[in-house]
Amino acid sequence: MPIPIDLRTVTLIAVITVGLMAVVQFSVYRGFPRFIRGLGAWALGSAVLFVAGCLLMLRSYLPEWASLVGGNAMLLVGFCLWLFGIQAFYGRPLRWRLLCALVVAGSAGIAWWSLVQPDYMARLACITFVLSVFYGAQLVLVVRHGQRHFNTWFLAVALVIQLLIVAVRCVTALLPDRVAETDLYAVTPFQIAYLASYSMTALILTVGFIMAATCRLQTELEQRSSIDPLTGLLNRRAFACVHERQRAAAARSGLPIALLLVDLDQFKSINDHYGHSVGDQVLLDFCRSAANAIPPDTPLARIGGEEFAILLTGVDMASAHAQAEAVRCAILHHVGPGIPPYTCSIGVAGTGGADCTLDALMLVADKALYAAKKDGRNRVKTAQVGEYKPQPVPQALATAEPAYAAAPPA
Ligand code: GH3
Ligand code: MG
Ligand code: MG
Repeated sequence: MPIPIDLRTVTLIAVITVGLMAVVQFSVYRGFPRFIRGLGAWALGSAVLFVAGCLLMLRSYLPEWASLVGGNAMLLVGFCLWLFGIQAFYGRPLRWRLLCALVVAGSAGIAWWSLVQPDYMARLACITFVLSVFYGAQLVLVVRHGQRHFNTWFLAVALVIQLLIVAVRCVTALLPDRVAETDLYAVTPFQIAYLASYSMTALILTVGFIMAATCRLQTELEQRSSIDPLTGLLNRRAFACVHERQRAAAARSGLPIALLLVDLDQFKSINDHYGHSVGDQVLLDFCRSAANAIPPDTPLARIGGEEFAILLTGVDMASAHAQAEAVRCAILHHVGPGIPPYTCSIGVAGTGGADCTLDALMLVADKALYAAKKDGRNRVKTAQVGEYKPQPVPQALATAEPAYAAAPPA
């Protein structure tokens, strides 16, 4: 019984779909920020595939070299551009020499079996072999470098299906007892699956690409909105979220929370004297030193120009004070090369196990910090929530270093 499918219509739908998807991809490329890479190559790849499809469809009206050779060569170029797009998207090096060589070799094979020794099955084997390599390479990249997210599996499954279809088509084209297929539109189950898959590919892979790009954009924006660009530390907004989480955990377990509010001393005069870029280096030096002085995974944030916050959970006032002293001393003893001497003042606020908002903690720590500044800077002052009066430094923790104001610029 003849299969009631017109393969010319299937091909026409595939070509129209690719053209529409190229338009969608170009609009995504124009709309997305440039740090999402690879979108331009994808869009261009789809546009080239559209032209390739048109050339192949117009075979009756065009010379063989334009329709068969040009169309198939552009098909390879289009899929190669998709692969470039994936490589760029995942920040992988573009293997353009190897891939261009593959496109040229594939096109030469097509030209040979179209013009010199016309053979549809040989052309089919040639083109499906190159496409298998392209799809296989894309699949490896997606599985290796994709985010562990639904969009990655969606794209991977779409590529596996497509890879299977072209690989099986390649093998069947190479089999000695070739079916009586003399051209693209021979109605056989393999050929139907092969051509129908093209129309699906453009649609499904475009959806997959756009899902992956959207997911990447969301992750990047989330990261950028919670990270301070200069220091790479959490910003105030992200710090508030971390505090909320730790507050909930501490409230359940009854553990105290302490906030260390750090302000670099006379930072404006460092900027004025050494320049803004050295000021930036001082900020970075402080981040490194402070991160080394506190336990790993302790939240450290930049909450203002030269103001930082550290959140300690499960520590009493004495330990919080000791941590603050460790931070203060870290920058006294460990100034990086090319960094002028600088100091910091720290206000410590403790909750003593009481549930407390970040605003309330900040208020208390700020008062303590103000007292530290007023007392001559380069020192630590502590205060408990509920009492704004700074507490005296515990005797046992008083440090040997003399407290001095930030060295005035020479
Ligand atoms: P105090 O000891 O009282 O804290 O004095 P201060 O000079 O540190 O404080 P002030 O608030 O007067 O100055 C803070 C300075 O921090 C002013 C601002 O130019 C500088 N600043 C803020 N953000 C940045 C930054 O990202 N880079 C640099 N280099 N400087 C910054
Ligand atoms: Mg300040
Ligand atoms: Mg300051």
